[in-house]
Amino acid sequence: MNKKPFETESKRLIDLMINSIYTHREIFLRELISNASDAIEKIYYQTLSDESLTFDRDNYYIKVIPDKTNRLLRIIDTGIGMSQQELEDNLGVIAKSGSLSFKKDNEIKDGFDIIGQFGVGFYSAFMVADNVTVISRAFGSEEAFKWESQGADGYTVEPWTKDEVGTEIILKIKENSEDERYDEYLEEYRLKSIIKKYSDFIRYPIKMDMSRRRLKEGSEDEYEDYTEEEILNSMVPIWRKNKNELGTEDYENFYAEKRYGFDKPIKHIHISVAGAVDYNAILFIPEKIPFDYYTREYEKGLELYSNGVLIMNKCPDLLPDYFSFVKGMVDSEDLSLNISREMLQHDRQLKLIAKNLNNKIKSELESILKNEREKYEEFFKSFGRQLKYGVYDGFGSNKETLQELLMFYSSQEKKLVTLDEYVSRMPAEQKYIYYAAGESIERIEKLPQAELVSDKGYEILYFTDDVDEFAIKMLMNYQEKEIKSVASGDLGIEMPESEADRDGEKEQKELFAYMKDKLGDRVKAVRASKRLKSHAVCLSNEGELTIEMEKILNAMPSNQNIKADKILEINVNHEVFKSLSRAFEDDKEKLDLYTELLYNQALLIEGLPIHDPVAFTNSICKIMQ
Ligand code: ADP
Repeated sequence: MNKKPFETESKRLIDLMINSIYTHREIFLRELISNASDAIEKIYYQTLSDESLTFDRDNYYIKVIPDKTNRLLRIIDTGIGMSQQELEDNLGVIAKSGSLSFKKDNEIKDGFDIIGQFGVGFYSAFMVADNVTVISRAFGSEEAFKWESQGADGYTVEPWTKDEVGTEIILKIKENSEDERYDEYLEEYRLKSIIKKYSDFIRYPIKMDMSRRRLKEGSEDEYEDYTEEEILNSMVPIWRKNKNELGTEDYENFYAEKRYGFDKPIKHIHISVAGAVDYNAILFIPEKIPFDYYTREYEKGLELYSNGVLIMNKCPDLLPDYFSFVKGMVDSEDLSLNISREMLQHDRQLKLIAKNLNNKIKSELESILKNEREKYEEFFKSFGRQLKYGVYDGFGSNKETLQELLMFYSSQEKKLVTLDEYVSRMPAEQKYIYYAAGESIERIEKLPQAELVSDKGYEILYFTDDVDEFAIKMLMNYQEKEIKSVASGDLGIEMPESEADRDGEKEQKELFAYMKDKLGDRVKAVRASKRLKSHAVCLSNEGELTIEMEKILNAMPSNQNIKADKILEINVNHEVFKSLSRAFEDDKEKLDLYTELLYNQALLIEGLPIHDPVAFTNSICKIMQ
C-alpha cells in the first residue's frame, strides 16, 4: 500500500504538533469532539432539507473509550462520516481557515499560543498520539475506509469494514517520556474533566463507560467491578436557556462553576441577540475586587464560544479596559472555530458584539445606580477607580460613556454622589463645580483653601484617589459647568473687600515682592489670598498641574521631579499679616524668618515634605525663646 504525502502546510502543522512542548495538550480532545459534533450536525441539516429522512436525537452520540492495556483512546461518533475521497481531502490537507496555514516558518514558534486559544483541528491529535487511525463510513454508503498516519511522513487509506455510519478515531497514546506524561489521557476521570471543561455544552451526548465498584449481591464484604455508561456533558448551556426559566441562583452557580470569582456577583446580564449578528452572552459584574485586579498580571476578557465550543478563554477584544472587571462568556454561531487571533481582532462580527456588550454593560450600571443605589456604591468602591482610569486613559474619548457613572465623596452629603446630583443642587449663582484633592476625607476637610467655598455653602467633591484629578482634567466640565479645584487661581467668588485690602495696597505689594524674592523659585508669587478667612496661609497653584498631581507624579517610579506652579497666599486680615508688615518696616531679619516659617507651614498643610525640617523646628524655637 502506497503512503501518500501530506500537503505542505499539513506536514508543517503535524511536525509542530509532534514536537509540541505546549502544556495544554488536552485540547486535542476538544478538537476531536467538536469535529464529531459537527459531523452529527451535518446529518441533522440533511434531514432538514430531505423529507424522506427523520432525525431521531437518540441515535446520535459521541463515545469516548480509553483502553489502558493497549494505550488506545477511541472517539466514536455517529455523524456523517467520510468517503475515501473525503478522508484524503479533509485529513491530508489542512483546512484553509486553519490558523497556522498563514504562518511563516519563522513565526511558527508563536504557534503555541494559538494552539491554546483556537482550534487547530484534527492534527492536534498528534500532540498526544504517535499513531492516528480514522475509520469512517459515509452517510448513504455501504463502504468504509481506514486512514492511518504515524506523523508528518504521510498517510495511507485502505478499504475497511464498519457496521454503522460514522467515524471512529483511534489514538495510540504516546509513551511517557522523562519529562512528559501521557498516561492521563487514558484515565477516565481525567478525560471526564477535560470534556466537562471544554465540551460541556456540545449538543449531543458524550458518553463514556465509567468504572465503578459495588458490593456483590448477597455479600457484605465482597466487592465487584462493573462499568456504567455515563453522559459527561450537560448539553444545554445555561445561556441558551430561556431567561424566565432561570433564577439568580442558577446564574450564581454558573459564576462559581466557571470560577469567574469566589464572590457573589452583584449583577448578571443575560443577553440573547438575533439580528445583524447572533449571539448569547452571560455577563457578571463582580462584587469584590480580584486580588490581582489593579496589577499588571490581571487579564481582562470573556470566554468565547463558537456554537457551544470554547475557542478562547479570555478574549480581550470583547471588553474595553474600563469594563475589564466584567466576567462572563459569549457564544456566537457566526464565529469560525479555526480563526487566528489576529483575524479575530479584526472580525466584524466580534466588533459588533463588543460594541453591543459595551452598551449593555453601561446601561446595566446606570440602572443599578438608579434603582439599587447601595449596591452601586459598593460596586463603585471596588471598581470606580477603573472607570476613572477609563476617562483618563481615553484622553476624554470615553467621557460620554463614563461620566454619568462616576461618583465622588460630597462635603455636604457625606457620601458618594454623582456629577448629575451635584449639578442639580447648585445654586443659580454658583459658577463652577468645586473639588478639593487630598489624601483622605479627614485631611481635605481641614484644607484652608476650601474655606471660602465651604463658607459660601457650596458643595465640594473630595478627590482622594490618585487618578481623580487626572481624570477630571480630561472631563474639564460637566453639563457646561467647569470643574475647578478649590486651590486654583480664580474661584469665581467675590470676596468682600476688607479694610486691609484697601489700605496700603502699595505697601502690600512691596512686602510680597520681598517675600517672593526671599523664597526664590520655590514659589511663583506671594499674594494676598482671596480664599482664606480664618487661616493665615496656604498654597494655591497656577496652571494645569496641581499640587496633588505633583505629589502623585513624584511618587511614581519614573519620578521626574515635576513641580506645580505654586502661589503662597497670605490672609491679609489675619493677625500674622500685621506682624509681617511690622517686620517689613523695622526688622528684615525677622521677616526672613517669618517668610520661611509661613512657607513651610503651607507645605505641611499640603502634605508636602519640607526641605529642611531641622532648620524649621530651630526657627520655631527661636521665636519661642
Ligand atoms: P476543521 O474542523 O476546522 O475543518 P479539522 O482538521 O479538524 O479542521 O478537520 C478537517 C475536516 O475533516 C473537517 O472539516 C471535516 O470535514 C472532516 N472531519 C474531521 N473529523 C470528522 C468526523 N469525526 N466526522 C466527519 N468528518 C470529519
